[in-house]
Amino acid sequence: MKTFFFNFEKGLDEKYINWTKEAVQDFINLFPEYKDNFAIKEGNLPYKNIDTLETIVEMNKNVYQKRGDVFDEQSFWQMFDRLPDGSYKASLQKQIALASRGGMVDIQKLSCLQSDSAGNQYSASTPILINVTKQRAHGNIRGISTELGINISAGTCAALGYQGEDLKAYFKDIVIHELGHTFNATHEGRQNTVNNLGMHCTDKNCLMYEYAYTDESFNRRKKLKEPFCQDCMASMRDYMQNVLSFERKNPNHITLDDEENQATTPATSNTDTSFKTDLRAMFKISALRQNAQYDEDAQAAHYVATITHTDGCVDKITATNKTTIALTAKDRDGNPKIPDMQRFRDIVAYAKKQNLPIKFGNIKAPEFKACLMIACLEADPPVQMIGAPEMNNEFLQKLAPEMQNKLKNTVDGLKNKQQLPQQPYKQPKIVLQQETNGR
Ligand SMILES: [Zn+2]
Ligand SMILES: [Zn+2]
Repeated sequence: MKTFFFNFEKGLDEKYINWTKEAVQDFINLFPEYKDNFAIKEGNLPYKNIDTLETIVEMNKNVYQKRGDVFDEQSFWQMFDRLPDGSYKASLQKQIALASRGGMVDIQKLSCLQSDSAGNQYSASTPILINVTKQRAHGNIRGISTELGINISAGTCAALGYQGEDLKAYFKDIVIHELGHTFNATHEGRQNTVNNLGMHCTDKNCLMYEYAYTDESFNRRKKLKEPFCQDCMASMRDYMQNVLSFERKNPNHITLDDEENQATTPATSNTDTSFKTDLRAMFKISALRQNAQYDEDAQAAHYVATITHTDGCVDKITATNKTTIALTAKDRDGNPKIPDMQRFRDIVAYAKKQNLPIKFGNIKAPEFKACLMIACLEADPPVQMIGAPEMNNEFLQKLAPEMQNKLKNTVDGLKNKQQLPQQPYKQPKIVLQQETNGR
């Protein structure tokens, strides 16, 4: 379990508190398969005994040494409140007071407390501190991060001149960018990274881009839906899976069938229907983009929706839960047909969002299989397939010539793309990252 520990400076405007919480939730939502591994708490971290604190002192000495700063042990001890039972409480308010001069805070110093009561063994259970200060930061620093937490200066963000929704979006971007560092989005040795103020992504549309905090980047990114590029997402998933050993939610794949599910009654009375929301959002928007009509059977226990195209063809989607989907289609005269290609792409996008492979269910029509394969292979990176047919002559001959070519072209396109080998994963280490340059 990975716990986010919120720590807000006293007197911080409520809106920043809400935006911080929203940003952390948005970040968690990017990883639906690991959602259950996250928890959120508010307040100070209590440290049980003196040995632990000594370990923290050692850790912080190392961090300071690495960045060429002098670690002030005396002021470190002053950051703690001794409680009546002899244990210590890490107090953000006290820490901020000590790190402040001239009405500004040195948020690099706040990184001192970003350690774990379990000592310097970084693990899945190490909490992540989310410290947000009201004060502006020296050096115009918006945010800074380590593997153990992030410090954000709301004061600095507020002084940049953004207003309203822009200020909110900018502030949330800074929080999510720093979380990206904490979850090792741009670790050393990864492709498409550059070392400038810490490791950053070279994709200009990615929030981990080295100049993501500039006006230019902010405005460019405003039009984009996804905060992170595929490389950064893959790194973070890798980190969650292999370093934090997060448990994945079951089941582990999405099954697609070309025949409607037989079950007509809900399996249990308290069936969770929240999956309908995700499917609805996706198919509704997709239908709208195609200028097609979206309808949903609100009375049905399962998710049942139809998409009617202007030519009279109807795609029908039924889902008994979030991972068991059936897709069928009829032409204007009611004869069965292969569903619109966009439906396959929708389902692949849905699987991708959850980082799940797609299992080929009891699919009878070869053309249906081919469409699903194309959609999976077209995705960047391709979505893993379970039970896909082998691409041999026997299978290809079952397809109409046009479909054969489409499938072959997709496979060839993939081969031509430079498929770089996966970089070996490196154990994370504490690295300070900061967003500092003025605008
Ligand atoms: Zn990136
Ligand atoms: Zn950064």
